[in-house]
Amino acid sequence: MGLESMFGSGVVTSKLNKVINWGRKYSFFPFPFVTACCGMEFMATWGSHYDVARFGAEFPRFSPRQSDLLMVVGTVNHKIAPVMKRVYDQMCEPKWVIAFGACASSGGFYRNYATVQGIDRVIPVDVYIAGCPPRPEAVLEGLMLLQQKVDGEDVLDRSKPSLVDGTVYSENN
Ligand code: SF4
Repeated sequence: MGLESMFGSGVVTSKLNKVINWGRKYSFFPFPFVTACCGMEFMATWGSHYDVARFGAEFPRFSPRQSDLLMVVGTVNHKIAPVMKRVYDQMCEPKWVIAFGACASSGGFYRNYATVQGIDRVIPVDVYIAGCPPRPEAVLEGLMLLQQKVDGEDVLDRSKPSLVDGTVYSENN
């Protein structure tokens, strides 16, 4: 007799979700894609004072192959956007994205021809962190929000909402 028929449908997958998501949400490997001044707050947050190890996210990786969390930190212009997209594409599933600060989230106050008006025009974003730059406390809150989101994911669902997945970046995106 299968487990599903013993305990009812959905029991096995919900337990599986819980166990796997518990592991995922406490073992983020962030790739810091740092382009501008928000990087200072990224470094402050990852210093010992704020103890990011509490959230299991303390080891930044500088290879997309070893990362599952892309943190876009700072202003993204149209010249660097294809590079960011390439880094995102090189990361294995499951993967998540945090837009760190006003510039990454919306272009910030750089409303001009050179600046991408939010990285979600190029890659899908899971959590937006407000601020110019955001305080470390806001970054930690963003991490916890992402943990909540991961906790609610279906590990068997391979589809990921994406605006432009698989497409080549162009300034018209
Ligand atoms: Fe710099 Fe503010 Fe933009 Fe962050 S949000 S990169 S601090 S201008």
